[in-house]
Amino acid sequence: MHAFAMASHCRICSLVLVLQLLHIYSLGICGFKHQTGKDNVTSPTNGKLFPWNKMRLPDMVVPIQYDLCVHPNLTTVHFTGLERIEIFVRENTRFIILHSKGLEITSAVLLPKDDLGSGKPGKQLQVLEHPAHEQIALQAPEVLTAGQRFLVVIEFHARLADGFDGFYKSTYKTRDGETRIIATTDFEPTSARMAFPCFDEPSFKANFAITIRRERKHIALSNMPKIKTIELEGGLLEDHFEVTVKMSTYLVAYIVCDFKSVQATTSSGIKVSIYASPDKWSQTHYALEVAVKLLEFYEKYFDISFPLPKLDLVAIPDFQSGAMENWGLITYRETSLLYDPKTSSAFDKLWVTKVIGHELAHQWFGNLVTMEWWNDIWLNEGFARFMELVSVSATYSKLQIEDYFLNVCFGAIARDSLNSSHPISNPAETPTQIKEMFDTVSYDKGACILKMLQDFLSEAVFQRGIIHYLKKYSYRNAKNNDLWNSMANTCSESHFSSGNFCYTASRPLSSTFSRMGKLTEIEEMMNTWTLQKGIPLVLVKFEGNTLRLRQERFLKGVFEEDPEWANLQSRYFWHIPLTYITSSSNTVHRHILKTKTDTLELEGEVAWVKFNVDMNGYYIVHYEGNGWDNIIKLLDQNHTLFSHKDRVNLIHNAFQLVSAGRLSLDTALDLTRYLRHESSNVVLLQGLGYLEMFYHMMERRNISDVTENLKRYILQHFKLVIDRQTWSDEGSVSDRMLRSDLLGLACDLQYPPCIQKADKLFSKWMGSGGTLNLPADVLKTVYSVGAQTTAGWNYLLKQYSLSMSGAEKNKILYALTTRRDCEKLTKLIELGMEGEVIKTQDLAALLHAIARNPEGQGLAWNFVRKNWNKLLKKFELASFSIRTIIVGTTSRFSSEDKLEEVKHFFRSLKDQGSQLKITEVVLETITKNIRWLKRNLNSLRNWLLNNL
Ligand SMILES: [Zn+2]
Repeated sequence: MHAFAMASHCRICSLVLVLQLLHIYSLGICGFKHQTGKDNVTSPTNGKLFPWNKMRLPDMVVPIQYDLCVHPNLTTVHFTGLERIEIFVRENTRFIILHSKGLEITSAVLLPKDDLGSGKPGKQLQVLEHPAHEQIALQAPEVLTAGQRFLVVIEFHARLADGFDGFYKSTYKTRDGETRIIATTDFEPTSARMAFPCFDEPSFKANFAITIRRERKHIALSNMPKIKTIELEGGLLEDHFEVTVKMSTYLVAYIVCDFKSVQATTSSGIKVSIYASPDKWSQTHYALEVAVKLLEFYEKYFDISFPLPKLDLVAIPDFQSGAMENWGLITYRETSLLYDPKTSSAFDKLWVTKVIGHELAHQWFGNLVTMEWWNDIWLNEGFARFMELVSVSATYSKLQIEDYFLNVCFGAIARDSLNSSHPISNPAETPTQIKEMFDTVSYDKGACILKMLQDFLSEAVFQRGIIHYLKKYSYRNAKNNDLWNSMANTCSESHFSSGNFCYTASRPLSSTFSRMGKLTEIEEMMNTWTLQKGIPLVLVKFEGNTLRLRQERFLKGVFEEDPEWANLQSRYFWHIPLTYITSSSNTVHRHILKTKTDTLELEGEVAWVKFNVDMNGYYIVHYEGNGWDNIIKLLDQNHTLFSHKDRVNLIHNAFQLVSAGRLSLDTALDLTRYLRHESSNVVLLQGLGYLEMFYHMMERRNISDVTENLKRYILQHFKLVIDRQTWSDEGSVSDRMLRSDLLGLACDLQYPPCIQKADKLFSKWMGSGGTLNLPADVLKTVYSVGAQTTAGWNYLLKQYSLSMSGAEKNKILYALTTRRDCEKLTKLIELGMEGEVIKTQDLAALLHAIARNPEGQGLAWNFVRKNWNKLLKKFELASFSIRTIIVGTTSRFSSEDKLEEVKHFFRSLKDQGSQLKITEVVLETITKNIRWLKRNLNSLRNWLLNNL
């Protein structure tokens, strides 16, 4: 496959020429001179049998070190590369099989390692290609014998990629309107092969010596610090970087740009820099403070120094995901790194902080210790998401990330309670399957079960376990079981002599820690959470002072009376570390439920029991009999009997049980009635969130009586708390988030005082030419109200194109999508497809937001159906963007005919996406919505009539 093959041989020739001229000045890859002894370019593969038929590479040959020289030309948007891979032959072979995708290889030469510098000519390797597997085979003239080391020298070139993967082009506009180009990399999971031929699997770790050529007006950045710059003839500069530590290919990174930076040094002497395009430099300071603080935190927490001398964090103008943890050179979407005090809300601040916390955690979890293969990507992502919570709550407690973390688990449960979920550890082979592993199961469920394990083991034991794991597998790869074994063997001799508790598989436990019984149980227990999909439901029934417990698989949209029920239940079973408190004691009681049914004897008079204390566990609880009625009474009488997390947990569980057909909607709604006395912002938002969701569902289906009554109910019932909100940025982070959401909702429901205030602020802002500073937390609401007039909408679009703040742009774009006007919404989609005013990186979020608008839902969906192939040219199949587009434009449907439409469309995709796992998730979600509506619409209608 030579999609990028251009008539550019002259360029590589000139590179070789320059190399030969310069080799005496430079010791790096660009300067060394190899004699190829070759005549010309290798012959094509056509007609030759490829010697390897598996997707995974053989390990007959392994890489030791890559010396890589790259020259991106930002004018022609091409790059040329020369690499020298030192390989070790483990088994006799004539072939070296490695990855390459879209690269034109112009020469491949082999020489024994000892011959380097001897002047002996290398031997030409024949290049065979297998584009379907993204592999090449380099065929040696004779057998390479085991135990030997060789150097493989490859010259190649390609166009800088247009998308977001491999070595790609990104552009930004200066304040003066000039467009500038930069070149940057993004490799995870399988795109390093688009930038240079390599053994592109996480377990082929090697060292990398990188050299980058650039023009004087640019800078080059890579994983390691620069050691020197050499001036070449013709004015080009060549930056040489220190050799990296041993690492996987997907973590290699380099950037050529003209960015500016701010710097600081950690207490342990690591230089931290934040880079952004020159006009955004002023937004880098918060990130610097956070990065320094969190790097210092992690070094202490993991008890392992950051192994590189520097860490750069770079805001890239075009970036598909949130950020990428390249070792020493972390790349971010601008909105994940830059903080603008004028336009960034409390939520934006939390977002930037936690994304930095996430990527920094990866420097250990992922970079230092890497999963053996992508099936265990959760070892990277679940941990990084969990460490967001640990690191940010320790360093920025005011951000109250513990409350936000509840949402992480709600997201995981939403996905995991569908049959189309998958086990955390799941087979994945092709690049498409691997990309799909980067989902809420790996990230969010991974994090939630780690939280449960931490709660179970205690923070100290958990921390010791992960230190043990990281130290043991440093610079290597690990599997699921390696983690559990590390958790189960955290003892050193000093623990025994000091009497501190620890775990060991071979020695008796300290009595301090008798929770566990046998230690092999950690692995046994955690396997039930990682090797099978789904989430358990624990059913609790009072019988005198005995509690009868049962476990089932929790499923939404499928009910006990359905014929498929039994089949979906069989074989599912977990070791559940239950926690509970009772009316008679605040002590957290523990019990591992590892049978289908079990009983618990309670001591003394007990009026109530609450399971899953503070929602530290990953399971749903159903209180059978009159259990829920009792809870409703308790909440009405004195809701502070339960912690705020327990109240959130109760509300969440109740509505989940409605979806599973276990609880009537009336009961769940009755449970929320006490909310008018609720003082916790998080709980309020959780409860209101369900009412809001029902409102939008009814509105989209044009069920106008219920829509109207829901609106009346919300505005009546929550009037006091809505009226209490100020239009400012004052208060705690949770006050501020409540304000953002509540005012947004009130204006969305056309609450007159809200609309009037927002209108007034918008007019002032527009009158000031956009210079007036509005409170950041209400910006989205003010803009959304302003966008409802044509003059306001047009003005916002103009401001969007001028704004230098990503945080502001996000808010404006959201506001623009709330306009109920197909013409305007179509205009936005056109701009998104064009990629100039609205960047392609924001297209998925744009379509998602438009589909949220009842007027835009059909528009977005029809657009996706008609333009699928065009979208696939912009984003790779199974990429974050494609999945967001699919889910965002379809998963709110709740009617049979829409279900048929979506099914029909997915079937028509064939190779173009019908194998995507996400299509199953969508179909199941729509089916669930249909069933929910059928079952609950009348209850909702009547409940509202009775409660208004
Ligand atoms: Zn991550």
